[in-house]
Amino acid sequence: MDMIPLCIVCGTTSKTKLVDKNPHACPVCKSGNSVAVVQSQERCCVCWIPLCKVGKGAPVATCSVCGSVMNPGRVMAEEARLGVPR
Ligand SMILES: [Zn+2]
Repeated sequence: MDMIPLCIVCGTTSKTKLVDKNPHACPVCKSGNSVAVVQSQERCCVCWIPLCKVGKGAPVATCSVCGSVMNPGRVMAEEARLGVPR
């Protein structure tokens, strides 16, 4: 009896989505417009084809200059404290 190798790969894939289009100042290294707020999204996939969303991660703020990962609330609080106009 011939066996046909059948390989279906199931799993989840995650990608990050930009949540806040406005770049923010970094409270750690004080660089302006270096912080982006992103959120990861988990998708169920079969054979690397994404099918449906299965979950979302918490939004995180990351700095492109110093690489700090922080709570977006901290970035907003720091901007409010410094009086950055929006
Ligand atoms: Zn920074």
